[in-house]
Amino acid sequence: MTAYDPNNIFGKILKGEIPSVRVYEDDHTVAFMDVMPHAPGHVLVIPRKGSRNILDADAEVLARTIPVVQKIANAVKEAFEADGVYIAQFNEPAAGQTVFHLHFHVIPRHEGLPLKPHSGAMEDGAVLKANAEKIKAALEG
Ligand code: AMP
Repeated sequence: MTAYDPNNIFGKILKGEIPSVRVYEDDHTVAFMDVMPHAPGHVLVIPRKGSRNILDADAEVLARTIPVVQKIANAVKEAFEADGVYIAQFNEPAAGQTVFHLHFHVIPRHEGLPLKPHSGAMEDGAVLKANAEKIKAALEG
C-alpha cells in the first residue's frame, strides 16, 4: 500500500497551510465543512494523526474518531432537521477515495431528497460558514 503523504490537502488543512471552515476540533480530531457538499451541512471528520485511509489507521485513532463522527452526525441531524444521516468513508481510488488522509463524510439526509452529484464546483464560502454556525449551535446546545 502507498505510504501516507503528509502533504495531502487535509494534511495541509491540519497544519493551517490552507483554510477550512471548522465546526469542531479536539486533541485528536478536526471536523470541517466539505467545500463541494453533496447536501447542505456536509461535514468531514478527520483524525489529526495521519493515515492514508482506514486500512492503515491505528485502532486507537479509530476508537477516538468514531465518537466524534457520532457527535457530528447528531449535530447535523439537529441543525438541518434531517430525517437521517449518511456516513461514508472510501479507501483507495478504486473505492472512490480522492484525498489520501483518513476522513469520514457526515451528510444530513431528508426523505425523498437525493444527494447532489459531485459537480466540481466549490460552495460559496458564506454559505459554508452559515451552515457551520448552525452545526456549532447544535453542538453547543
Ligand atoms: P473522498 O476522498 O472521495 O472521500 O472525498 C474527498 C472530499 O474532500 C470531497 O468530498 C471533496 O469535496 C472534499 N474536499 C476536497 N478539498 C477540500 C478542501 N480544501 N476543504 C474541504 N473539503 C475538501
